Amino acid sequence: MKYTKQTYPIQQLPTGEILSIHAYTFTGSQKRPKIYLQANLHGPEIFGTTLLEKCITYLESQEDISGSVTIVPTANPIAVQHTSYNALTGRYNPMTGTDWNRIFKVNSKNIEELGEQKYYTKQAKKHGQTIEDKLANTLRSISAGSSHILDIHTAGSNSVPHVFPYAKNWEVFLPLQAEAYLLWDEKNTMGTFDDSHITHWHEHNPNPPATCAWEVYHHGKNDLAVCEQRWKQLKTWLESVWEDQEKKETQPLVYSIQQLHNLPAPIAGYYTWLVKPGTTVKQGEIYASVYQPWHHKTIKLTHDKDFYLLGNYGIDAMKEGEWIAMIIEL
Ligand SMILES: [Zn+2]
Repeated sequence: MKYTKQTYPIQQLPTGEILSIHAYTFTGSQKRPKIYLQANLHGPEIFGTTLLEKCITYLESQEDISGSVTIVPTANPIAVQHTSYNALTGRYNPMTGTDWNRIFKVNSKNIEELGEQKYYTKQAKKHGQTIEDKLANTLRSISAGSSHILDIHTAGSNSVPHVFPYAKNWEVFLPLQAEAYLLWDEKNTMGTFDDSHITHWHEHNPNPPATCAWEVYHHGKNDLAVCEQRWKQLKTWLESVWEDQEKKETQPLVYSIQQLHNLPAPIAGYYTWLVKPGTTVKQGEIYASVYQPWHHKTIKLTHDKDFYLLGNYGIDAMKEGEWIAMIIEL
């Protein structure tokens, strides 16, 4: 199949160059499903882009598909430019401190009046908007009306693959074979790209879009073997959507998003983790040791509740109270 490619200008630099979003669309012989895939909305989360390269190459080799697939391999051409001492750092706009995945506020009233596609296309063309609004409106104009939305992210310096799906149809994403599924609904949306596709009127919609963020790997890294494995999972998911068949053979861990917490460093010092992501740590069990060089003491850390370690953030010299890990309190 051949794709059509569209380019959307996002930001002009002081020197005149323009940062743009590039979208590839494959259109099959049927109208539905309408699948939308994007990656690299947060700057350090580059793994999804190489994963989507595989997807585009695969679709090019196909004769036909059910419905359409639109792919945006680099959803945020601004954030991926942000680097500091061998690290990608663009989770936030450095000028405003805004998280690039909390910019998708939904104006439900105007969308209802105009329709999703028209509303966002009109918004994206407005002069004088903030760069956050420009990026959000453009991405939402490309994904508007999709039946299946997958926003590919990565988590921490070491983490297990997990998915944040909309609770009403989360099982659609079972073929992604993630370790953990953290379900959300209309009551706990945060202005993320995936949750912006669900607004109040979907509460009574028998067929709301299936939408999720998929945390596939760690920040800042590409790995050939992991990419092969994730591509198999993504392809299995695409096939299940095209064939309209739910595949329920996997038994992942399923939690509410409200069980997810950032674990603050209980003490300062130099951390060594004694458990790996994917481990359930019991109340009172030692999970890390912390060296405090100012009085030559090593302290063993325990938590006051059982928790599942989803991932480490990756800085092992910690100030007190700053985030060290993503955990699910059990
Ligand atoms: Zn992210």
